[in-house]
Amino acid sequence: MAEPAPNGGGGARLTVDLDALAHNYAVLGREAAGAEVAPMLKSDGYGLGAAQVGKRLWAEGARTFFVARLAEGEALRAALGPQRPCQINVLDGMTPGSAPRLAAADLTPVLTSLAQIAEASAFAARTATPLPAILHVDTGMNRQGLTPEEARAVAQSSNSTATDRLRGLEIGLVMSHMGSASEPKNSRNARQLEGFLEVLTLFPQARASLSASAGVFLGPDYRFDLVRPGVSLYGGGPGGTPDPRLKAVATLTAPILDLRHLKPGDVVGYGESVRIVRATRAAVAGVGYSDGVIRAARAGGYVWLGGGRRPLLAVNMDILIFDLGDAPAEVAEMVEIIGPNALIDDLATAGGTVAYEILVRLSRRAERVYVGEV
Ligand SMILES: *Cc1c(COP(=O)(O)O)cnc(C)c1O
Repeated sequence: MAEPAPNGGGGARLTVDLDALAHNYAVLGREAAGAEVAPMLKSDGYGLGAAQVGKRLWAEGARTFFVARLAEGEALRAALGPQRPCQINVLDGMTPGSAPRLAAADLTPVLTSLAQIAEASAFAARTATPLPAILHVDTGMNRQGLTPEEARAVAQSSNSTATDRLRGLEIGLVMSHMGSASEPKNSRNARQLEGFLEVLTLFPQARASLSASAGVFLGPDYRFDLVRPGVSLYGGGPGGTPDPRLKAVATLTAPILDLRHLKPGDVVGYGESVRIVRATRAAVAGVGYSDGVIRAARAGGYVWLGGGRRPLLAVNMDILIFDLGDAPAEVAEMVEIIGPNALIDDLATAGGTVAYEILVRLSRRAERVYVGEV
């Protein structure tokens, strides 16, 4: 990745490798064997561009997508257009008053509460049109979804048309979400699986979905009919650590702006937390936290240059400084901050966060380049 900058040192660049995305989609498809892979495109496709990512995944065969917000769903529907028919599911569900817009953009709400179910059923009655919907049931994450008791009450209500809370709704999928799937040995996983299996007996006609990225790798019991991976499609390891089966989709590179010698006792950048012990050389690169490089990753983070990892010394708004050691380097040479060698999970760990946050914080300041067919 250490190529001379084509623009003579112009600026940071975010390269989104759609072929790597397709590779990861295929890896997840093989791993989930038999289950439909429904990519998660919330937060603008984890910051990488939901339109481009969605189009490429559609070309790879994906026909069901998830987003979080109504507006994300509308934008994705517009980007994919009528020539790419697919189901787009909205995790926020049927928030108050959103029914007409959901229907207009042909978005499927993931119903998360009794109130949402009531609103959806009332809308179906008003329009006298059956409304496809998904039920989200909480199996122990305590975040979103009907409690198992509520799910039971809803299922039992539909034994008679007079009491049917699901009247007018076509529940095609029952889903739940896991809280500790990135820890394969955590007993919470088996507890959630057991709870989910019980809920499914209430809705024998619906398809089922339990797993996001990490769940796909927990084994066949967790895959059901459909899986909803996000971060692993974009190159984040399912366990929060790098996974060699997955390729980096996002590569952030930046030019070296300046090189300098540091001697013992020198203090680098703002404050006095970085004091040089042994004489070394440092490089300044034109990328900073304004571009999405987490400032906290300074301690323990690295960039990739000349075939090796070079420790970060400071991350400022527009520039970062790293320890070059005795590696050769030139002004205008491009440094990899995130990518196939500077792994996103490593940067996240150094910054005390997760790959998800690194991805969605990549800003629009860095020039964006898409590689591979959309
Ligand atoms: C974000 C999300 C996913 C995708 O999670 P990853 O860990 O990125 O694979 C799946 N399902 C739900 C409900 C989510 O909120």
